[in-house]
Amino acid sequence: MEVLKKYKNQLVFHLFLNFAFALFITFASYYHLPLYTLSDISFYLFHFLALQFSIFGFLYFLSINKYLFRFLFPIVFLFFSCVAYWVYFQDIAISHSIIQVSLETKADIVMDLISIPFLLYLLSSIIALIFILKYYNKLKVNQLKSPLTILAIVAVFSYSLVENYRFGTFNRRLPYNVISSSKAYFEKNSLILKPIDQTIKANIDSLNVVFILGESVRADHLQLNGYQRKTMPLLSKRKNIISFPNAYTPLTYTAISVPQILTNATLTDDYSRPKYSLIDILNHAHIQTNWIGNQTPEKSYEIFIEQSRFQKIIDPLHSELSFQKDYDDKMLPVFKTLFKPNQNQFTILHMMGSHWWYETRYPDAFRKFQPVIKSKHIPSNTSEEMINAYDNTILYLDYFINEVIQLVEKQNSNTLVIYLADHGELLGEDNLWLHAQTGKASENPAMIIWYSEGFKEKHPETVLKLKQKQNAKTDLDFFFHSILNLYQIEGIEYNKKKVIF
Ligand SMILES: [Zn+2]
Repeated sequence: MEVLKKYKNQLVFHLFLNFAFALFITFASYYHLPLYTLSDISFYLFHFLALQFSIFGFLYFLSINKYLFRFLFPIVFLFFSCVAYWVYFQDIAISHSIIQVSLETKADIVMDLISIPFLLYLLSSIIALIFILKYYNKLKVNQLKSPLTILAIVAVFSYSLVENYRFGTFNRRLPYNVISSSKAYFEKNSLILKPIDQTIKANIDSLNVVFILGESVRADHLQLNGYQRKTMPLLSKRKNIISFPNAYTPLTYTAISVPQILTNATLTDDYSRPKYSLIDILNHAHIQTNWIGNQTPEKSYEIFIEQSRFQKIIDPLHSELSFQKDYDDKMLPVFKTLFKPNQNQFTILHMMGSHWWYETRYPDAFRKFQPVIKSKHIPSNTSEEMINAYDNTILYLDYFINEVIQLVEKQNSNTLVIYLADHGELLGEDNLWLHAQTGKASENPAMIIWYSEGFKEKHPETVLKLKQKQNAKTDLDFFFHSILNLYQIEGIEYNKKKVIF
């Protein structure tokens, strides 16, 4: 009791400090979470408190030195408050691309972000800051001798303990995500690309390949592959469509799967040797390359977007973690203006697809299978709700691919639409959900090819070969070699055995 009395002021100060920090900064990362039952609310409440506890540790040690605290804390507090405002009001995702946007954009774009609500928010945090500093100046006791020091050591350790146990638990949330994203921005990519200095030629004219790069779609939930639910009513009615039920990749998350698909890397590559970029080769062969993406790029494949002759990222401030993310069909108007039937073109449409949280991926009209998930906390949803919501994303995929085909069909061109998911998804097998973990369903992505009448007339033997190969096991490293083969590329070696056309 005596001890408590002696350090009472200090204790109250840290409680107040952490309350203000949580209110103006930390809680922004939890504000948008869809939560439903008491158990998931308690889960995230605990999560939030544990995160704030770890911050307490860092703030405590900063507060030991008076000069350091008075100088550094206001900068830290106001900076993170500004970031938190955008998370609270726009649900923006803090990623390395956001850091890039903020560091590389001009002052006028930053000026646009400044609004009355923003200034009011900033003003409130300044008032809170004044109170914190006033209180801080009154503290007299030597803090290091305080029992709170032991608690602060535990708090700092809890941060590394949690992050070592499961990466991203804290690092994906404020304020840590600003630090980890900045680190990612300055990190070098491990993928080394081989420069092309030889002459490269495409021996084919007016071939359009539309590559729809999907996200987290497992092959066995496609009606085209015999799934008992009508998840693909539109594509099922179409002709000139082939689904490949046995595609395979052991690379079960976007950051490692996409670079493999778009280079000559094999599925088991260690990337010790430089790789050829497919986009780079196509550029050298004078094929128009376009990238339209609804995913905020990850460091590992950003280079392919930069290499594309045309680039457009839809809704760049929201990532897969935002609940206000635009739907994939926002890419269609851009695609429409780009598609030129009489030109050699290679267009990538990078979808948000079926990435968790499923309910953000499709509009209400596609909520056919019900009931759906209500909570971001997976254990709070039933298997039925999880699978229903997931299947609705497939229904939306059916609509999306069909829209692309319709657009292309009207032009009566020589076109292939290739849909390939970067990996599959686990839906409760062995009690595992989502991806980035091994399992039959996460390693078996969906793959669909549609060909135009014009393509069929020009290449009947290719269509026949595709049909013959439909049920064979298709490793995702087919893609690089098959595309070079399609355009009859000369000047670069590729593996003919991997060509599926
Ligand atoms: Zn992915």
